[in-house]
Amino acid sequence: MRLGDQEASGNVEDRRGMGVGLGGGLGIGGIAVAALAYFLGFDPGTALQIGEQVSQHAPAQQQQGKRGAPADEAGQFVARVLGSTEKVWGQIFANSGSQYRAPTLVLFDGQVRSACGMAGAAMGPFYCPQDEKLYIDLSFFRDLRTRFRAPGDFAQAYVIAHEVGHHVQKLTGLRRPASNQASVRTELQADCYAGVWGYHAGAMKQLEPGDAEEALAAATAIGDDRLQQQAQGRVVPESFTHGSSEQRVRWFKRGLDSGQPRGCDTFSAASL
Ligand SMILES: [Zn+2]
Repeated sequence: MRLGDQEASGNVEDRRGMGVGLGGGLGIGGIAVAALAYFLGFDPGTALQIGEQVSQHAPAQQQQGKRGAPADEAGQFVARVLGSTEKVWGQIFANSGSQYRAPTLVLFDGQVRSACGMAGAAMGPFYCPQDEKLYIDLSFFRDLRTRFRAPGDFAQAYVIAHEVGHHVQKLTGLRRPASNQASVRTELQADCYAGVWGYHAGAMKQLEPGDAEEALAAATAIGDDRLQQQAQGRVVPESFTHGSSEQRVRWFKRGLDSGQPRGCDTFSAASL
């Protein structure tokens, strides 16, 4: 990608290296109470329990990472890709007379606490509609390169753009469906939205030759059929939630070729 001219988004929350230990879990109020209880002579275990009870009733003030574009190379890249998605979706929303509300991207390592619950890096990047945040562990990008053999910066950008696609779904009123079949359509639509972003990033001269292929390789590599094959050595279609590799490629390409979000209506498509 060529992101030299792209401004880095400030909507990044850097929680790398913070962990979700005592400090993150309890919150300031909880720690203060736990400390107070400790000094009042409760044993440390009891003090902690009291702290935890307090923090459960405290408002959802949880971990707060450092806000703003990180300075390191990997963090800068993520912030610039996010900036690019803000530009593209901001324009698309404006064209249809509405306003785009940008999501926050949380960088974490290991484990993270979100409004949707605790999550580990192993589950991969995800979007939490409740707090409108994208959660990304940079180790997933390493996996993409090594385990899934999908190298390249655009492959990483595709993953971010896919999560942003889920945010667009939230803004446009799509509720998360319960059945597997519906959630495949949700996922494929997010892939298509990632493609829509790719189209406009191309128009902004942010793509380089080979970038589209990188994203397609990533879409192929992280299709449910491939993931399941790697995990269990066989494919179990009933439990697909993201769509097959072929479907993911097809919908990503549809967005990438047209740049039109209305071409991403996976919900009324007769076949996926
Ligand atoms: Zn998804």
